[in-house]
Amino acid sequence: MKTIGLLGGMSWESTTLYYKFINEEVRARLGELHSAKILLYSVDFQQIAVWQRQGAWQEAGQYCAQKALMLQKAGADGVVLCTNTMHEIAPMIEAAIDVPFLHIVDPTAEAIKKQGLRKVGFLGTRFTMERPFFKDRLRERCGIEMMLPNAEDRETVHRIIFEELCRGEILDTSKQIYRRVINDLADHGAEGIILGCTEISLLVKPDDAPVPLFDTAELHAKSACAWALAETA
Ligand code: GLU
Repeated sequence: MKTIGLLGGMSWESTTLYYKFINEEVRARLGELHSAKILLYSVDFQQIAVWQRQGAWQEAGQYCAQKALMLQKAGADGVVLCTNTMHEIAPMIEAAIDVPFLHIVDPTAEAIKKQGLRKVGFLGTRFTMERPFFKDRLRERCGIEMMLPNAEDRETVHRIIFEELCRGEILDTSKQIYRRVINDLADHGAEGIILGCTEISLLVKPDDAPVPLFDTAELHAKSACAWALAETA
């Protein structure tokens, strides 16, 4: 079994989900008392969030690349960045390390492809919804077009992530807002919805949507597990 390097804390509310998903998957695959080999570097998210708001992606990227290298030096066989938004700077991490970087879009694209969908809605931070890094790679990997909520709803979805979910607040009023946004996307032709922020599954469950949900945190964690358990040639 390979050692998975988690670069987390963005926010830690979702890093705990990664830890749980990965260990559950190892138990399901190997049974007995097996659990995952994991190294975790968990950042102080406050600084990262400030850099995001300032558009200081270079600084944030240098910082994350340095932490990813620390994981490699500590013995990680690959690096998993536990947030969609910070995949903006994935190329900086990939350039800094020699071990594989397991990109969050790839398992998401695989799962959508498997279900044969053509159009999917997307919920995430303003950065992930409006910057091209996620949607371009998704189109490249599976030819799928992402549908976004309107500008006002994007702002609300973003605000709930930072003001509530990343602070451990799960409110029913916000769940109802997300349900309404998801239904609007489905009414406009979305055949599935990508939960493109690693905290959203804390708020929204499959029963809240009329179409399949693709939880990036769960898909990413499970694919990291499959990678860690794959035979090496
Ligand atoms: N975890 C979130 C994501 O998946 C948002 C926090 C962040 O901005 O990194 O995008």
